[in-house]
Amino acid sequence: MCSADAVEDGKIEVIGPEIDEMPEGSVFPLGIMVDIYGRKMQEDFEGVLERRIHYFINYGEGLWHVAQRDLCWLRISKAAKAAGFKIRHYGELLIAKFKSDYPAIVDRVQITLITDAKVIEEKIVIARERYQARDARLKGLTDESVDTFYSCTLCQSFAPNHVCIVSPERVGLCGAVSWLDAKASNEITPTGPNQPIVKGECLDEQKGMWKNLNTFLYGASHQTLEEVNLYTLMDRPMTSCGCFEAIIAVLPMTNGVMLTTREHAGETPCGMTFSTLAGTCGGGVQTLGFMGVGRRYIISSKFIPADGGLGRIVWMPKELKDYLREELTERAVALGLGTDFIDKIADETVGTTEESILPFLEEKKHPALTMTPLM
Ligand code: SF4
Ligand code: ZN
Repeated sequence: MCSADAVEDGKIEVIGPEIDEMPEGSVFPLGIMVDIYGRKMQEDFEGVLERRIHYFINYGEGLWHVAQRDLCWLRISKAAKAAGFKIRHYGELLIAKFKSDYPAIVDRVQITLITDAKVIEEKIVIARERYQARDARLKGLTDESVDTFYSCTLCQSFAPNHVCIVSPERVGLCGAVSWLDAKASNEITPTGPNQPIVKGECLDEQKGMWKNLNTFLYGASHQTLEEVNLYTLMDRPMTSCGCFEAIIAVLPMTNGVMLTTREHAGETPCGMTFSTLAGTCGGGVQTLGFMGVGRRYIISSKFIPADGGLGRIVWMPKELKDYLREELTERAVALGLGTDFIDKIADETVGTTEESILPFLEEKKHPALTMTPLM
């Protein structure tokens, strides 16, 4: 969100190489900066409009966009390139869509597209500060403290029956739509993809099932899904589209669960890499024992509580441990799992098969080994 004099309406700038200077099949970094001025624009709307970039870009023929924040993957097909697509056209597409879809809050838009890694390194700091501030605003809000959750069906553009249910303690699986974002989005577009759902009668407190959420799900999934539990992955769990930041999977031999992330390309103890896993549990179906989640959901107090919560995690990539270390330790202490719980979780340096991590878990006396059987 910018002041009026900082935004030249319609301006598009590309910093770094254009597509003609990129060899076919190569990989480049991409920064997208959207400066918006609007008399009715609010800071609370920033995250909402940012998430629309995902949705808008997928409208482009031959263009593909997944994930969120500073973790996105984008692809430009050879056919799109042959048809004359340029990096600057991302700007044209976004300006047109922001102005047509949000005329009430967007008065002026300018877009800067950055393909120069050095400039991205500088600018990404600004973005990360904003992400932290957004996450911080959610602290203190609990699922019990509100009577309304929100749906998100933004990803139905490529997973037609997928429905995310966003609660204060469970961010959308893309990690980019929090309860506050969904609420703001609904204020901007009351008939849009984020609908308020008054929870109503609770059918199962432990597994997190509410009557009204089921009713909503049935309609929004085009009658393909009847019931959903918010707090477990073992019984009618939430569906996954394809945007998940991380995937949880059951490891039967260890009586625990593992997590892997989009950033981790390597093998995992469930026998699948992130990409293979994404193929099995994506697409908007309920897959028992597998679930896509946002990274920050892991440290939520509503992290699969019906399955034993945080104490169930027996494996995750080292990078994820480092990313969550401080907050995960805080959560572990609060749950009575001890300050060293994170060190009881195996990672790729310990092993990438169930057999190879089991001795480590036994040596560390990992709590999952003595929990009630998962299956
Ligand atoms: Fe919405 Fe879920 Fe898609 Fe995120 S992953 S944009 S919360 S439907
Ligand atoms: Zn999605």
